Amino acid sequence: MVDLTSVLTYAADGVYALAIILFIVALHRMSNPATARSGILWAGAGMLVAIIVTGFNPDVLANGSALGTDLLLMLAALAIGGAIAYYAAIKVQMTAMPQMVAVYNGMGGGAAAAIAAVTMISGTSGQAYEALAITGGLIGAVSFAGSIIAFAKLQELINSKAVTFPAQNAVNMLVLAGAVVSGALALADPGVFAHVAGLSVIGPLGLFFILGLAFGFMMAIPIGGADMPVVISLFNAFTGMAVGLDGFATSNYAMIVAGVLVGAAGSILTLLMAKAMNRSISNVLFSAFGAKEETGTQVKGSLKPIEAADVAVMLAYASKVVVAPGYGMAVAQAQQKVKEMMDVLEQKGVQVKFAIHPVAGRMPGHMNVLLAEAGVPYDHLYDLEDINSEFETTDVAMVIGANDTVNPAAHRQGSPLFGMPILEVERAKNVIVLKRGQGKGFAGVENDLFFRDNTRMFYGDAADSISKLVQELKKL
Ligand code: NDP
Repeated sequence: MVDLTSVLTYAADGVYALAIILFIVALHRMSNPATARSGILWAGAGMLVAIIVTGFNPDVLANGSALGTDLLLMLAALAIGGAIAYYAAIKVQMTAMPQMVAVYNGMGGGAAAAIAAVTMISGTSGQAYEALAITGGLIGAVSFAGSIIAFAKLQELINSKAVTFPAQNAVNMLVLAGAVVSGALALADPGVFAHVAGLSVIGPLGLFFILGLAFGFMMAIPIGGADMPVVISLFNAFTGMAVGLDGFATSNYAMIVAGVLVGAAGSILTLLMAKAMNRSISNVLFSAFGAKEETGTQVKGSLKPIEAADVAVMLAYASKVVVAPGYGMAVAQAQQKVKEMMDVLEQKGVQVKFAIHPVAGRMPGHMNVLLAEAGVPYDHLYDLEDINSEFETTDVAMVIGANDTVNPAAHRQGSPLFGMPILEVERAKNVIVLKRGQGKGFAGVENDLFFRDNTRMFYGDAADSISKLVQELKKL
């Protein structure tokens, strides 16, 4: 007699293996901008397969009615969550992507914490898997609360500057220690509530999650200014680790592999971003860098505007032009116009290169994605380390909606940007800056590049300005 439950369990494991393969192929494809888009589809397919097979899990099917109460609940949750996510994804502006990533990441952390809570409540105390679940629960709760604060800061629902108070790091460590101790107590008695002298009070497990969430909140509030990208990436890695630990606790292979992949990729990205900012992770987390106000800015010189016709002449007679794009190019959605300008200049025999700062825009790879979408070839894009030595021999450096990433204040001690490597556009013979007005960059620091003798300000929305410029170039 064939046991249907074990057949279903083996079949489910087989299909999970397929989902795992899809996840790995997806991640591999995401490592190259040319194949990254299809990588997303592979990952989506893997997730779909994993969700469908979970619906056929014997435990899910067996619960309640013939169809299974759990299955119905899962389908209802999928319909509600899927509808909200679909609506949000088609509505979101490209410039608001980081906030959306932060929210989705937070939801992943929250889901991992919820799985850990269920595992604890329904489990048998003292089992090894509970220790894994509780560790996953802590990391997931921290990621959930921290990501929600990151979202609120990026969306400017709360002050995006670093919030500090005396003995902050010591208080944070106490909260973390409290979470760890209550987690250890919850391993012995996983009660959300406890009964003391006839009264119902918060039990170890309840306290554990409250303190875990509080630690995530406290970890994110002192992060401000230009450090946000590193922290979003760190919380992303946390969510992956939490999911992986839950996967071990519940013996779900797809969760283990998906979690480990996200945890590893997120950790590598965090290290790369911190390196790009010339900061250590501990420095990002504990020094509350963005809290400092700009001190001792000595801006000398004046802002010298320039018109499209004059910029066109300057560019047309240059032999090398380096474009440094930033967040403003994304706001203006100017990438197509930038590509058109590149084509016109190349037809005139001008060499055009793009200088890509690792934190330009509002998400890792933001500029690469936009320029790739517009059809700028990858071999025209240069990393910060490669391009900085070229500015000396550059006739015109064109700054398109970038500010912090080209701000020489980063060389000055006392500046909130101090230490961050920048694109050294100021060393080019001429610098043209495209921006709308006197707006500061994300870190709120004055930029004396704009006042230098070799800099001209080409005011206006970047897309409009480049349209005018292309028209003028075509006349020459
Ligand atoms: P910044 O945010 O420093 O500056 C953007 C500039 O673009 C502003 O000065 C603004 O000036 C100008 N601008 C805005 N809209 C337009 C428009 N329509 N047309 C022309 N110009 C416009 O940009 P950077 O890319 O140089 O720096 C990115 C910053 O964001 C860094 O501090 C980074 O740490 C941070 N960050 C990066 C993330 C990432 O992962 N890449 C994530 C989160 C934060 P004006 O208003 O005068 O037009």
